[in-house]
Amino acid sequence: MIQALRGTRDILPEEVGYWQLIEATVRETLGRAVYQEIRLPIFEQTALFERGIGEATDVVGKEMYTFSSRGDKSITLRPEGTAGVVRAFIQNKLHAQGGVQRLWYTGPMFRYERPQAGRQRQFHQVGLELLGCDAPRADAEVIALATDILQRLGLKNLELDINSVGNGADRAQYRAALINYLEPYQNDLDEDSKDRLMRNPLRILDSKDPRTQEIAQNAPKITEHLSLESKKHFDTVLNLLSNLNIKYQINHCLVRGLDYYTHTAFEIKSDDLGAQATVCGGGRYDGLVKELGGPETQAVGWAIGMERLVLLLQQLKSNPVIAPELYIVSRGEAAEAQGLILAQKLRNAGFAVELDLSGSAFGKQFKRADRSGAVACLVLGDAEAESKSVNLKWLASGEQQAIAQSDLLGMSQELKVKIAGLKKP
Ligand code: ATP
Ligand code: MG
Repeated sequence: MIQALRGTRDILPEEVGYWQLIEATVRETLGRAVYQEIRLPIFEQTALFERGIGEATDVVGKEMYTFSSRGDKSITLRPEGTAGVVRAFIQNKLHAQGGVQRLWYTGPMFRYERPQAGRQRQFHQVGLELLGCDAPRADAEVIALATDILQRLGLKNLELDINSVGNGADRAQYRAALINYLEPYQNDLDEDSKDRLMRNPLRILDSKDPRTQEIAQNAPKITEHLSLESKKHFDTVLNLLSNLNIKYQINHCLVRGLDYYTHTAFEIKSDDLGAQATVCGGGRYDGLVKELGGPETQAVGWAIGMERLVLLLQQLKSNPVIAPELYIVSRGEAAEAQGLILAQKLRNAGFAVELDLSGSAFGKQFKRADRSGAVACLVLGDAEAESKSVNLKWLASGEQQAIAQSDLLGMSQELKVKIAGLKKP
């Protein structure tokens, strides 16, 4: 038997209600803020990610699914969404429309990682990007929208970690100070961090190795190396968050893995999740659009990991199920044919209708009707088929009434009201 690949998962109907709930919440919350959805290719030229994410990062260095296409072009399955959005922004000249572009996306991402709970090789993100604005209000808006989505979904134990990584010049200065501090500890660092010391020393700060973390705790802080302008940006973002009643903590070790981040970097964590605690990561990336060949465009965005969100929601609420409102029980050739016609008519009139296709004894069909969660049953046997009627049976009370099939649609308003009143919450 051929199995699904390691690090991929089937999302079965018993779980899909959570996904749909997340998608609906995202669509509504971002729609109210007038963000527009953008749908992009799942594979791109490898160079897009190498330049857009940075070769010194784990994502590009170790985690990309890269292969050569038949024409020898190097192709990569997208490991994240931002680089593709920026490519599309430049290629389709969205900047020519002027002003601010507010975009969101959702879909699968691919990273070669060691699979574990909340960490897969094909996983899903929903993300947003606000392009064309350098104001701290943009940073605060996108953070507020992420917290809105998570709170509306019912998550409570959220923590927002925030930091500033300044601009390029601030970082160059800080980088020197950091290398200076870390060099004496070179032999105590974990292997990856040793490697990063000259290439990407900021990344050492978010090492998961306990000894490296200890060393990082006393490292100089990037916020002490910010220019006045960068510091003002950061302080303003923090003030705006306080005005919005969004609690945060400054995390000096939060630098994010990607080279194009400037100023604000943030993560939203939940302490219900154990090891994979981060559900949302984002920040400002003022350098990326230019880096990828577009006009200078400041931007800020985030991505939420959907698998981790689903794991959290599963602890909070039961799977939202789709139950039929009406269940059609029929037996006998003529009755079964009429049952199908009724099912289609009622569906088109807006009812959720399940048609029992088994042809088994009435008793068995009634049992399935009960299990389906339907509010009422429509029963057709030989007698009903003969008289073109149907027996409407309310499942909770057992109350029944015979109705002419031709009267059924005329009663649909009345039926809807009664069903709504009897539906289980
Ligand atoms: P981590 O430190 O957990 O590897 P990351 O910094 O690589 O996270 P980002 O690139 O910021 O993650 O992606 C944003 C979000 O996407 C993460 O916070 C997480 O919720 C989710 N995510 C990232 N990688 C995976 C994965 N392999 N499987 C499932 N979700 C993931
Ligand atoms: Mg990662």
